[in-house]
Amino acid sequence: MSMIDITTPRIEINLRKIAHNAKTLKEFYGSKGIDAAGVTKVVCGDTNIAKTLINSGINILADSRITNIIKMRDANIKAQFLLLRTIQSQAEDVVKYADISLNSELAVIKELSKFAVEQNTIHKIILMAELGDLREGIMPSDLGNTVKKVIKLKGIKLVGIGTNLACFGGIKPDNKKMEDLSSITKNIENKFNLKLKFISGGNSANYNWFMTTKDVGKINNLRLGESIFLGRETLNRKTIPKLFTNAFTLIAEVIESKIKPSLPYGDVYQDAFGNTPKFRDIGKIRRVLLGVGVQDVLVSGLTPILDINILGASSDHIIINAKQTDLKVGDTVKFNLNYGALLAAMTSHYIIKKYK
Ligand SMILES: *Cc1c(COP(=O)(O)O)cnc(C)c1O
Repeated sequence: MSMIDITTPRIEINLRKIAHNAKTLKEFYGSKGIDAAGVTKVVCGDTNIAKTLINSGINILADSRITNIIKMRDANIKAQFLLLRTIQSQAEDVVKYADISLNSELAVIKELSKFAVEQNTIHKIILMAELGDLREGIMPSDLGNTVKKVIKLKGIKLVGIGTNLACFGGIKPDNKKMEDLSSITKNIENKFNLKLKFISGGNSANYNWFMTTKDVGKINNLRLGESIFLGRETLNRKTIPKLFTNAFTLIAEVIESKIKPSLPYGDVYQDAFGNTPKFRDIGKIRRVLLGVGVQDVLVSGLTPILDINILGASSDHIIINAKQTDLKVGDTVKFNLNYGALLAAMTSHYIIKKYK
């Protein structure tokens, strides 16, 4: 690309706030013997952010994509890398670049075994148990059978049992679920005479359980993304006390600002995305166009910091009702982001990443 100086749209990333959140959560969970792994997938394995997590005392970096793990390794980040989602056809690289991977399919683990032997190494795995959220995981009744086969595989070391809740089914990781995970683990350890290092109870949704439980049982690991980056638990999206919720800010530029009607005029057909839009007539308003759109960010996940309203968006524009705010061409407008908006903004190569 030619050397043009693009400054908007950008996402401003406050590394000090991320460091504060990571340290606070690490100490907090550490107080009851739970180690917090930092989940970097929402920031695409961003290496500045990954370094910040490591400098804040996080030892395990977890990501769903092997390419993100390779990127972090290439940046010489010293961590244990945990792959959250293992794809069979990537087994060779998984063994090469990930220290540990989460798994739920024997066929995939066999492939990992094959490449571990070939690479003369030991690949560590955590088996995921299905506890009702119905994304990944082995049904508890099948777990013993899988373990029996896994421990026979060369080049594979079973180092833990994990579960993941509140992702697909919105199922709460409560005392009952965590007790189930502890007892499943105990049974496996006793039956196969194993000592498992990682009992990984879940993600940012486990905050409420942790706060209210009298006994964390065998759970000694959680994998945290959203609570580190956005300072929230994820069952009700409530702010976690003492954490920053605004480590990330999206900044877009006003490219048009005019008083116009609130109601489109002419015959109504489909919009840019095949919807037939409906609008309410509230008279003339200050309509502001921003130079950012659906190609860059999940617009529904943005919250303006000013008292203005998002009316809608197309690929490259967000349309705003500026209400009483005087916005001129060239001004910038700031937004807070939810998880989906952050994910999209970090993934879009059109959005400049600016570290503060
Ligand atoms: C994304 C993910 C996490 C992190 O979830 P957050 O809600 O961001 O804390 C943990 N575990 C697995 C398996 C994941 O896919």
